[in-house]
Amino acid sequence: MTERPLLEISDLAITFPGGRGQWPWQRQSDVKAVQGASLSIGRGETLGLVGESGSGKTTIGRAVLQFIQPASGTIRFGDFDVTGFGRSVPAAYRRAVQVVFQDPVGSLNPSMTVGQIVGEPLQLHFGLDRAARQARAAELLISVGLEAHHLERYPYEFSGGQRQRIAVARALATEPELLVLDEPVSALDVSTQSQVINLLERLQDETGAAYLFIAHDLAVVRHISDRIAVMYHSRIVETGEADRLCEEPRHPYTELLLASIPDPDPKLQPLKSRRRRELTVGGELGASGSAPTESCPFAERCPHALDICSTQFPDPFPLDDGGWVRCHLHTSGPTLAGQPITQLAVV
Ligand code: SF4
Repeated sequence: MTERPLLEISDLAITFPGGRGQWPWQRQSDVKAVQGASLSIGRGETLGLVGESGSGKTTIGRAVLQFIQPASGTIRFGDFDVTGFGRSVPAAYRRAVQVVFQDPVGSLNPSMTVGQIVGEPLQLHFGLDRAARQARAAELLISVGLEAHHLERYPYEFSGGQRQRIAVARALATEPELLVLDEPVSALDVSTQSQVINLLERLQDETGAAYLFIAHDLAVVRHISDRIAVMYHSRIVETGEADRLCEEPRHPYTELLLASIPDPDPKLQPLKSRRRRELTVGGELGASGSAPTESCPFAERCPHALDICSTQFPDPFPLDDGGWVRCHLHTSGPTLAGQPITQLAVV
């Protein structure tokens, strides 16, 4: 019998109410931030959720953390029905699911010492006294590559990478089963990014925690993820094992994200740039306007678009690696179904 996933999200929809219009009696349309999103994460697994700013990926993370309520769909975590919590989120869930935000400056209270920041969840969830908190906080700091004497310092005394290590130590203090990592390295320089990614990988081996790794950079996401889900304009359009998805993308938007990653080989870079131009028929990356409900959200930019794409968003088409793709190229005929998108000519 296969083990049930730790986190299961099914057919999730999240809508934000529209703001006021030009006149007092006018109201803008509601914003469909997430539509029909389904994904799962196993114990100890890393799922990368990748997409541009505004694609809905962070909104899914915030729903898992219960910062916002979905309009419909379900989120299950272990035995918890997360969407049924309402306003009272059980302490056990708060302990089991922790978050690391993009901005370590904004997420660390500048008036608290590092010892107080890391010690706070230890008091809240385990009721440790001051001496025990300090001892455990020192262990946590050492585990993220800092030193015990840093407990007495304040966040402003650290670099960006060190502050993110403090945020990771605080998140790990509750011994979580799932960490939501929301653009955790986006604000860091490239060399610090790789140090923090390596740290997260080591800590996952040691703790067995699962990660929901949310980021816009597919190269970073590939490095750390077991599986990847690609989002575009409120929809998950492709999922699959990280290596397959990056080597044989099935959705044109996934291929566009890959073509946007600079290639270290100067001979290959011009080919990549040309492929990116071929794929970007509707302008540069980025969705605009309200997310369509019926059509493929990528239809206006897709070089392969068919007539059906503007009227119908396809159902998931299963792939050999256990993932799926939502694209009519894989459902419209036996000659196209299942082929890597890279083998299709740009029309
Ligand atoms: Fe392009 Fe149609 Fe596939 Fe959307 S469904 S990605 S428009 S071919």
